Amino acid sequence: MSLFLKNVNYLDYKTLKFTKTNLMVESGVNGGIRFMDDERSAHPDGEIIDCQGKIVTKSFAVGHHHAYSALARGMGAPEKKPENFYEILKYVWWKLDKAFDREMIEASALSTAIACAKAGSTFVIDHHASPEYIPGSLEIIAKAFDKVGISHLLCYEISDRDGLEKAEEGLEETAQYLNNQQGLVGLHASFTVGNKTMKKAADLMEKFDSGFHIHVAEDAYDEKVTLETYGKTVVERLKDYGVLNSSKTILAHCLHLSAKEKEEVRNSKAWIVQNPDSNLNNHVGFFDGRGLGDRIMLGTDGMHSDMIRTVQQSYFLGQTFDSIDVDGAYRRFRNVHEYINSNGFEGDGENNLVVLDYKSPTPVKSENFTGHFVYGLQTADIQHVISKGKLIVKDRHIETVNEDDVQAASKEQALWLWRRMRI
Ligand SMILES: [Zn+2]
Repeated sequence: MSLFLKNVNYLDYKTLKFTKTNLMVESGVNGGIRFMDDERSAHPDGEIIDCQGKIVTKSFAVGHHHAYSALARGMGAPEKKPENFYEILKYVWWKLDKAFDREMIEASALSTAIACAKAGSTFVIDHHASPEYIPGSLEIIAKAFDKVGISHLLCYEISDRDGLEKAEEGLEETAQYLNNQQGLVGLHASFTVGNKTMKKAADLMEKFDSGFHIHVAEDAYDEKVTLETYGKTVVERLKDYGVLNSSKTILAHCLHLSAKEKEEVRNSKAWIVQNPDSNLNNHVGFFDGRGLGDRIMLGTDGMHSDMIRTVQQSYFLGQTFDSIDVDGAYRRFRNVHEYINSNGFEGDGENNLVVLDYKSPTPVKSENFTGHFVYGLQTADIQHVISKGKLIVKDRHIETVNEDDVQAASKEQALWLWRRMRI
């Protein structure tokens, strides 16, 4: 079954070249797109969408997300007002993920997948934790994402923070999952992972030819504890375990790295994810890409699922705390595709598209598109979203699941969760 988009103004996301054409979009994980200048030669066997006046381009992807945080929106204040990053983890996130059960995992994954789809993302790199429901948790998320039509690269957050038994369960869940699915070896952060667990995780990475997905120097606390406990910096520690040799490794945040650590990361194969909204929310500092090289992508860190908002935050924060222009911000936004495709992960092929209904008071051209992207484009401009050749969002409405039903179930789960957390 192929989808036919007619009267398309197609924007190549790499070259920023516009082409007026019609597009035949093949379905399936390996499906492509074909330009058909003459509409009459096309014989579509699927839906036909008129894209007159719209821009069609590659859909988006989230470099670092936490689906479980969907149930935190609107939640009450914790028992104690957190005064630093460690207390934010202790009184909010570690309380939340410990209260998670199967239904909550499923509800939050479905809600997150819908939010991602409607915001134009068809691929999500997620980092999951549910210490009281570890075995099988990643398959629940994978199924929920598949149902909505979101491709994924998942991992379980291995950590010693709840004891070595839970760390073992996390390692086991990772191994089970990687036997059947593409994914990563997830770890919370250096300061909650002891040497034994770190070594076992690095062995898993080797065994499955995978990479780490870990929070790095999100707060100065990570560096402080790592240095005090292991006598080395976070980056040195990861380097010693061979983690930085994998081009699949993702280091989320990297806010508090020394110049030497930045150099180590720059000269490694690992990728970095900037999460601007989350950093603002947690009051942990500001990302500065200078000295880190070009392998920087963007994520939402569970704050929301809106990558347009994220690239705009990255750009505006970068005017003070970083050095970035509109082209650089757009490159950061799009780097995730190189990460996914150069590492051979599936689900981010050519037949993943967004149709933008972008009205502008000024001309939109190849030369100024990144300026429009940063200053003008809004998530509300995303009219249709196509994932693996299938229309998953049509006229801003999710097509694959009943959103009202999902949100009703999610609200119920949120109430259970909050009750369990006594919030
Ligand atoms: Zn995170």
